[in-house]
Amino acid sequence: MLGTLGRYLRFMGYDTMSANSITPGNTREDSILLGIALREERVLLTRDRELAKRGGERAVLIRPVRVLPQVQELVDLGLVEPRIRMTRCSLCNEKLRSAREREIKCVSYAPEQRAGYKFLWCVHCRKLYWTGSHAEELANRLKKGIR
Ligand SMILES: [Zn+2]
Repeated sequence: MLGTLGRYLRFMGYDTMSANSITPGNTREDSILLGIALREERVLLTRDRELAKRGGERAVLIRPVRVLPQVQELVDLGLVEPRIRMTRCSLCNEKLRSAREREIKCVSYAPEQRAGYKFLWCVHCRKLYWTGSHAEELANRLKKGIR
């Protein structure tokens, strides 16, 4: 349910796991999530009031529906800094590495003007990212959307 927030957090460089496969309201699955949060010292973000209560200090209840106010909530709590770092794949959480020339070339959505951009590559998704327009647009959206 917080998929968009997860993608933003990855653009911001945070190691973010997603519970997409988890059935809502299933208490056993909730326990698995809480177990992961405890073991791996992660913060569990949830829209589920009950789960947030069970998680205590390890969990944060996300109240806003839209993503930018959700980011704002995490900024207010001191959990994240509102900066786009572009160090992780927004889809799979893998750390990005510098893209090779042939990787940039094989991607149809790469910008034609490449000067001043830094290109990054997810080896897992074979997805190209770049700083410059891509990162700036996200950073502006963050800046505008939050206080
Ligand atoms: Zn990826």
